[in-house]
Amino acid sequence: MNTSYDVIVIGLGGMGSAAAYHLAARGRRVLGLERFGPAHDQGSSHGGSRIIRQAYFEDPAYVPLLLRGYELWDRLARDSGADVFVQTGGLMIGRPDSHTVAGSRRSAERWGLPYTMLDAAEIRRRFPTFTPEADEVALFEERAGFVRPEVTVAAHLRLAAAAGADLRFEEPAVEWDAPPGGGVRVTTPAGGYTAERLVICPGAWAPRLLADLGVPFTVERQVMYWFAPRGGIEPFEPQRHPIYIWEDAAGEQVYGFPAIDGPAGGVKTAFFRRGAECTPESIERRVTPAEAAVIARHLAPRLPDVPGRFLRAAACMYTNTPDEHFVIAQHPRHAQVSVACGFSGHGFKFVPVVGEILADLATTGRTGHPIALFDPRRSRTEPTRTR
Ligand SMILES: Cc1cc2nc3c(=O)[nH]c(=O)nc-3n(C[C@H](O)[C@H](O)[C@H](O)COP(=O)(O)OP(=O)(O)OC[C@H]3O[C@@H](n4cnc5c(N)ncnc54)[C@H](O)[C@@H]3O)c2cc1C
Repeated sequence: MNTSYDVIVIGLGGMGSAAAYHLAARGRRVLGLERFGPAHDQGSSHGGSRIIRQAYFEDPAYVPLLLRGYELWDRLARDSGADVFVQTGGLMIGRPDSHTVAGSRRSAERWGLPYTMLDAAEIRRRFPTFTPEADEVALFEERAGFVRPEVTVAAHLRLAAAAGADLRFEEPAVEWDAPPGGGVRVTTPAGGYTAERLVICPGAWAPRLLADLGVPFTVERQVMYWFAPRGGIEPFEPQRHPIYIWEDAAGEQVYGFPAIDGPAGGVKTAFFRRGAECTPESIERRVTPAEAAVIARHLAPRLPDVPGRFLRAAACMYTNTPDEHFVIAQHPRHAQVSVACGFSGHGFKFVPVVGEILADLATTGRTGHPIALFDPRRSRTEPTRTR
């Protein structure tokens, strides 16, 4: 038994790599355990880009975390020298009363965030790649943009290791135990470890590793598609074609990015919530041309030049809670264990601030950040979906 750790972090994906870094930076002796290699593509943190925005339609309660998050994204960029965050501006498009538009506006108003409302004609004039219907509008937020998931995970891992964290890859935690007397034990195929505290960030493995939380998680396969736009990428460069989320009359949201990886990279787009239930073992990683044809048809009237030529696709996993809000808390039954999971397809933009919260919880048992919305016990009461 190795007893020299203060904190063990299980799962070094988006959230766990950030937690390992924040803990090591506070002088804690950290052991990080990861099932796969560094910044891998088998979980929820791959695919080259993630949307980041502040006017948060999901709930205004997320905004203070985003304000702190932006500071930490800047700090991460500075400390790591990596291009983790690019501001492109963002368009939240739909009918004025859609969840995407009205919800974003509500958050912006509630927190005094700067934004501009554009009608359909103004959208077409300022952003000619977009062809909205006459009754659609957009909330434009200048501070929106994208972050780079793999670059971010790699940066946090590098900084964590530099601060002294012991990071072990290809070493899954098979079992964890937090006896009432205090301390924790974690078993892997390589042996057993003990520490004072445990932080569990298992992504899509939450239903198994955190079954005792009693949260009915559902894991979903969600596909990202890359297309070579008709007529080339020039009109799709980041300064001309911002990130967007576009809600149709039926409430379906599609989102996308500018051309961020040169002509060969194309532009990425995806449905926000159109996924089949799966497990990390059963997920179908292959994407069929028929699936690409469905999103191409959906995009054709809205972004006519995007679905030029289909380049490639990749499958990723969401871990949804019933109300699509996160789970971030001390474990209700084990004060020495903190958990972060159930990010429901919108967690990556919060990675640095979740790292800070987990470091707070694991070192002091509390955090100054507002996380009441993320209490795992709420699931036992009436679920209220965000849409
Ligand atoms: C297609 C797609 C698009 C998305 N778009 C956006 C977006 O635009 N904006 C946004 O903010 N968010 C977005 N998200 C959501 C965001 O990416 C996720 O919320 C976030 O990546 C979740 O991070 P995580 O650390 O919980 O999971 P992961 O990064 O998957 O990390 C979990 C880690 O735990 C490891 N693990 C599991 N079990 C064990 C074990 N027993 N022992 C050791 N290691 C273990 C796994 O291998 C994995 O590395 C998107 C997600 C997907 C899939």
